[in-house]
Amino acid sequence: MLIVMRAQATEHEIAQVCAKIQSLGFRAHVMPGAERTAVGITGNHGPVAREEFECLSGVVEAISVSKPYKLVSREVKPDNTVVDVAGVLVGGPEPALCAGPCSVESREQILESAHAVKAAGARLLRGGAYKPRTSPYAFQGLGEEGLRYLAEAREETGLGIVTEAIDTETFDLVEEYADCLQIGARNMQNFSLLRRAGRARKPVLLKRGMSSTLEEFLMAAEYILSEGNYQVILCERGVRTFADHTRNTLDLSVVPAVQRLSHLPIIVDPSHGTGKRDKVHPMALAAIAAGASGLIVEVHPHPDRAISDGYQSLYPDQFRELAEDARAIAGLLHERRSSRDTVFAS
Ligand code: PEP
Ligand code: MN
Repeated sequence: MLIVMRAQATEHEIAQVCAKIQSLGFRAHVMPGAERTAVGITGNHGPVAREEFECLSGVVEAISVSKPYKLVSREVKPDNTVVDVAGVLVGGPEPALCAGPCSVESREQILESAHAVKAAGARLLRGGAYKPRTSPYAFQGLGEEGLRYLAEAREETGLGIVTEAIDTETFDLVEEYADCLQIGARNMQNFSLLRRAGRARKPVLLKRGMSSTLEEFLMAAEYILSEGNYQVILCERGVRTFADHTRNTLDLSVVPAVQRLSHLPIIVDPSHGTGKRDKVHPMALAAIAAGASGLIVEVHPHPDRAISDGYQSLYPDQFRELAEDARAIAGLLHERRSSRDTVFAS
């Protein structure tokens, strides 16, 4: 159920609606918008009587939400959400560019990577200190030591840090250091981890599970929002198909599909999406052309020596070209859209 407030509704009227929701044992989610504020209700297992709300001051109407996901849906919040990650706006007019190695391997490696990706045009640094690996014998990440190196890289470069939290046990630690917490593809339906991310005070980057449908993807995001964290960025990173010319099949059609159903920003990971260095640049540009709000790209100063995902990691110079081309395409599309809007408006 969604309670739509009048455009001029006061703070007090909104607070009264929230108090009413809480008195029924449900949770209230205030969703401010450009035109009006709405208050979403979660926690109810059956229908809620709309008359209970429609008589309250400042309420226009109470409407039931038809989709299984509520808080992530455009029905509840028509305006796009813009997520602020350490001053970088994801979902704003410019594509948000995040780059860095798959894993934090050493202090020198992450510092060198951070300087290189910054010089090449990235605004955010990626790098896993805790790695979800297929083999228990593969490098699992440096843990807290890796987080400390990431923090040092942030201090030196000013880049915001995006890093993965793989379980609830280490979540607190990752939350302390990260500017944005990544939930990886393998954990997209780890519901206790999603709930924990929903209680975090930092933005979350939620990657699509490798065989998940659009609805499962949005329901996973719903777990995070339902706990009160509305700062969620979705990320397409490829899905499993019969195709074997790439590691995964990058499903770019999910970008407009998400944008139609949800207000959350979606970015694309062309590195895991293709698994091949030579496919990263073209697919990154295709993602921007499809309307993605940003890119997360694996870049390593010495990909041949990378401990994980070297084959799909770009050299810093390749990332520089990618960043320039991605910005050029986004700028061109923005310009054309604005000039069309001006023509229509006149
Ligand atoms: C990663 O970003 O390095 C990673 C493990 O990604 P994914 O969860 O998409 O496989
Ligand atoms: Mn990786």
